Amino acid sequence: MDRHPIWFNGKLVPFEEAKIHVLSHVVHYGSSVFEGIRCYNTARGPAVFRLREHMRRLLDSARIYRMEVPYTLEELEAAALETIRASGLKACYIRPVVFRGMGSLGVNPLKNPVEVAIAVWDWGAYLGDEALEQGVDVQVSTWNRMAPNTLPAMAKAGANYANAALVKMEAVLNGYSEGIMLSVDGYVAEGSGENLFLVRDGVIYTAPLTLSILPGITRDAVITLARDLGYTVIEQPIPREALYIADELFFTGTAAEITPIRSVDRYTIGQGRRGPVTEALQRAFFEIVREGKDPYGWLTFVEVPREASVSS
Ligand SMILES: *Cc1c(COP(=O)(O)O)cnc(C)c1O
Repeated sequence: MDRHPIWFNGKLVPFEEAKIHVLSHVVHYGSSVFEGIRCYNTARGPAVFRLREHMRRLLDSARIYRMEVPYTLEELEAAALETIRASGLKACYIRPVVFRGMGSLGVNPLKNPVEVAIAVWDWGAYLGDEALEQGVDVQVSTWNRMAPNTLPAMAKAGANYANAALVKMEAVLNGYSEGIMLSVDGYVAEGSGENLFLVRDGVIYTAPLTLSILPGITRDAVITLARDLGYTVIEQPIPREALYIADELFFTGTAAEITPIRSVDRYTIGQGRRGPVTEALQRAFFEIVREGKDPYGWLTFVEVPREASVSS
């Protein structure tokens, strides 16, 4: 991991100094919420993809867990940009995390301090560069996505990743890149850290939020891009077997971007490589983040343009 400065409780500190105590609440009870955000080196300069939506979700996740974050949305946005600038990176992954610090080690964490850190590092394609073109091989996990009203699925919480890690480890040990979780009633939910889309006869389907999926910001972007390209997108429960007869399947997520799936449980999907709808969506997505074209207002440029920085 690169040793860039980390924004820790209000200021940038050297990488080595961003430490916590082993008796911090988060270490014992998984009491953290976090985000994964990408900064792209666009043709118009480094820009963060949907920074506001990510920081808003971070604050929403914290609120669900009754964590009072001592920073505003605007302060968190500025902190992320400051951390990127301090790293000198043109493209990076940004990891804000809010967690319960040291205090009581009882179950009730209400009196423990809420701490905030933002780290950045260099990160390529999550499932591999080749995966973006060739697609990945996945399995349906034996683990389910959490049931409604157990762990809140709308929060991007560290605790949820105990479940995600079981899914991912099982998949990798079985020789797959990723696992697809079903909801407790047996419908397709999502990957361990990616939302899932299915294409059949030119129509695009994805699971509704009622199936305890994480409301992905890339999922939202892809739905918008697909509709603007003229596709019909339907959010409805997808039965497991619909995966096996899909024309195309793909994952979306900040880390995974738009990654085609070429097989599920050793059923070949479509032609066993990236399909045309997936490719069209990738093209639309990468045009925004590579060219820096921003028709939706999704980019926050890291360096303030000269004209704009001149004070009036
Ligand atoms: C973070 C995450 C995603 C992807 O969300 P994005 O906002 O697109 O990055 C999907 N599923 C789960 C379970 C996640 O934690």
